[in-house]
Amino acid sequence: MSVDESVVTCPKCRGAKAFEGIACGADGCRMIVSACDFCKGTGAVSPARVQAWERGRLIRDERVRQGLTLHEKAALLGMEPAALNGLERGREP
Ligand SMILES: [Zn+2]
Repeated sequence: MSVDESVVTCPKCRGAKAFEGIACGADGCRMIVSACDFCKGTGAVSPARVQAWERGRLIRDERVRQGLTLHEKAALLGMEPAALNGLERGREP
């Protein structure tokens, strides 16, 4: 009876596993497909990671509402900007 083994749809790519985008270089632009970095291209993540993702969104929304940049908010919290960025993106610590 472990909930840790269950997986849910990735909140970033919504199960699509990858994103389509346009990459531009010296030889022009072309369509590219890149794997979702949140679920590592699997389309599913653990519920704990979805919680981290949603918490990160709240943290980011709060910061934006305060009109602060990532660097300003990190300085207020006494954190490294990279650490705050990771938190906002729901990265595992
Ligand atoms: Zn994903």
